This record gives sequence, structure tokens and C-alpha cells, in this order.
Amino acid sequence: MINKANDPSLKSWIEVPNNSDFPIQNIPFGIGKTDHHKPRVCSRIGDQVIDLKTLFVLGYLKNLPFDAEDFDTSSLNNLMRHGKKATSDLRNRLSKLFSMGFNDLKDNEHHVAQVLMPIDQVQMCLPIQVGDYTDFYSSRDHATNVGTMFRDPDNALLPNWLWIPVGYHGRASSIIPSGIPINRPKGQQKPNEESDPIFGPCKLLDFELEMAFITFDGKPLGENITTAEAKNYIFGMCIMNDWSARDIQKWEYVPLGPFLAKSFASSISPWIVTLDALEPYAIDGPQQEPAVMDYLRYEGKHHYDIHLEVAIQPEQAEETIVCQSNYKHMYWNMAQQLAHHTINGCNIRCGDMMASGTISGPTPESFGSMLEISWKGTKPVQMKDGSERKFILDHDTVIMRGHCEKNGVRIGFGEVSTKVLPSK
Ligand code: CA
Repeated sequence: MINKANDPSLKSWIEVPNNSDFPIQNIPFGIGKTDHHKPRVCSRIGDQVIDLKTLFVLGYLKNLPFDAEDFDTSSLNNLMRHGKKATSDLRNRLSKLFSMGFNDLKDNEHHVAQVLMPIDQVQMCLPIQVGDYTDFYSSRDHATNVGTMFRDPDNALLPNWLWIPVGYHGRASSIIPSGIPINRPKGQQKPNEESDPIFGPCKLLDFELEMAFITFDGKPLGENITTAEAKNYIFGMCIMNDWSARDIQKWEYVPLGPFLAKSFASSISPWIVTLDALEPYAIDGPQQEPAVMDYLRYEGKHHYDIHLEVAIQPEQAEETIVCQSNYKHMYWNMAQQLAHHTINGCNIRCGDMMASGTISGPTPESFGSMLEISWKGTKPVQMKDGSERKFILDHDTVIMRGHCEKNGVRIGFGEVSTKVLPSK
């Protein structure tokens, strides 16, 4: 089915700068506030934020199943509760309203002035009230690198890895939007075998380059979602920096897995790009060998070609790009992750967030964490300002960006940018 809103020939009557992540083919959703406006549901074209609350009040969103509370609210959850068809229809309506040649709104200057806000006057907020957060571990290159470093290069993948989309339940309360600084976490560490553990600021603070997807309401407890149904339960995606305290993690993770080393913060980009908008960039995944179990088999394209990069910006210095990766490197795709997550009858809810796991590619330039880039601290990275990094230092800002490009159309996620402050 061709989605008209994805037509590469579409142009908006809103000016879109070259190389913008937000042409009319994107139409992402987010929550924005200004000095004059409380948080509300927004979209974006070029450098203009579209105030959907005002658009609704002015009558431009008629004959869609939404009411005022769906837009006059501080999360996208109300909107998402209406499900896939409703949110797809909303995106299509916005695409039409802002398309060149469609003048209903364009010709009403007074309305346009109320609806559009320049991005530099808008503060983007956390877009989703996240219920449950699940983190997968689905990049084969990442799992292989970690297994090689900490276990056995000849048996880097654990025996379950090629059979199960491995994951764990994370912490939802500490998911924060781009722009919110974090303090370096403190905790127990055990730097060497001989002595007792110590307590103090994490010394091996790391980022994890990930993407996350957000779900609609799923099925009742006890039922599962198949790979064929998965796309109907996924609203869209954002970029995630799943912060990690490697030294705290190493001491605490046995036997129950990640805990305080992971729960202090996960930062996300503020615009949710819909699965509809990403459809033109869907591609085939890798051959899976051994063949996966029946409930993990899938048809169609569920992987996506999304360029990703990570930069570190020291205080008052130029940024250095330390990673160029791509979401296409995932071994397990979102449909498989969702099918696996629900195969035991676990119910998913509107606003659940599921992250990919660190996205590493096959080459060192594409490794998605400092743990891998500096190979456990043995290969420091040279920064443009002359300094070196093995892990993230205080006052560094970590910036992740992502975009897709095809047929002359580039759509993207903007960025997630987080500054690290010293421990409290
Ligand atoms: Ca992670």
C-alpha cells in the first residue's frame, strides 16, 4: 500500500532548510512548551513546530477520532490510545494541510501565526509517559565484542544468543529527554580481585547507542502478538542513549543482571518518528542461522536503514565524532522482539518503550559504546581538542543523531544531547 504522505515529490509550503531531518515526509510527534504555552502535542516541518492543540481548536483536525484532551496534554499517550489507524490518519491529515497546493490553512495568515512556532522558541519535553521499559541486546557485533572482551573470543556469543532476542526489564522513571544533564552516578565498584569493594563516583561512564520503539496498547494478559501483527502495535521510534556505569555493572550484575549501573538515566531524542514515515527505509535483515523458532519467523521487511552517529563534545571545544553506525546492523528486528516479549502472555501497554540494545556494526568505526571503541580502555580515542577519551569525562556532552535517506528524501530524528556533570 502506497502511503501518500511518504511521496518523495511532496513539498511543503513551510520552508525546509537543506539537509533538514524534518521535511513534510517526516511529520514526527512530540511534546513542546514555550514561555507562553504549557506542554502540548506538536509536530514539526523544517524549523517550525506545529502546535496541534491550536490546530485542533481552530477546527483543522475534524473528522478524526480525537478530542481536545488528546492534544492539550504533556505526553503522547492519549493520542496513542486511539491506535494505529487513528495516528496514521492524523499524520496524513497534517501532510495534506501543509502540502504545497493545499491552501485551507496557508491562506489564513492569522491561523498560521497561531499554529507555527520557531523551534528555537520551543522547549522539547519527554514525549511519552513510559510505563515499562525493556532493553534488548540484539546487535550481533555488539554481543560478539562484549563476549570477546570478557569471556572467550572463540565462543563470544553465549549459547542462547542466536535463539532468543535476549533482553531485560529496565527502569522507566529515569528516562529523560535530550538536553537534561545527568550527574555522574555513584556506587559500589571492585577495581581488583584482591581487595574489598569501594564506594565512589563511577570511573567508567559509558554511552550505549540505541534506538527505541514505543508501543500502542497490546492485547490482554495471556495473549501474544505475532511478528505479522507487530507493526500494528508500534507507534514509532526515537534515538536512545542508554547510559552505563561499566565499573558498577561489573560488580553488581551477578546473578540477576543489570541494576544500578543502568537505572540512573536513559536519554531519548524528543521527536517520535512514526513507523509509517520509516516504511520507505525498511530493508531485509540478515540471514538468521540457525533457523529461528516458528514464533520468531517473519515475512516482509522489518529492519530499517537508519544512519546513526555519536559525537563527544568536551566543554567549550569542538565535537569529535567517535561512532558511525546504522540500525540495519540489528540481528533481531522489532517484530521479533515484540513477538518474543509477548510469547509468554506478557501484556504490553500504550507507552511502553523497548530499546534495541547497543547498535554496533562490523568495523571499529561503527562500535556503539566507548567500551568497544576504546576496547576496555586499551585504545584511547584522540579528540579534536588534543585530549583523549577511554570513557566519558565530567563536562562532556554526548550527542547522538540519526537519519534515513532515499530517493532524495532525508528524514531524521534530530538529536539526543546530554551533558555529564560531576557526581553530587
Ligand atoms: Ca542497553
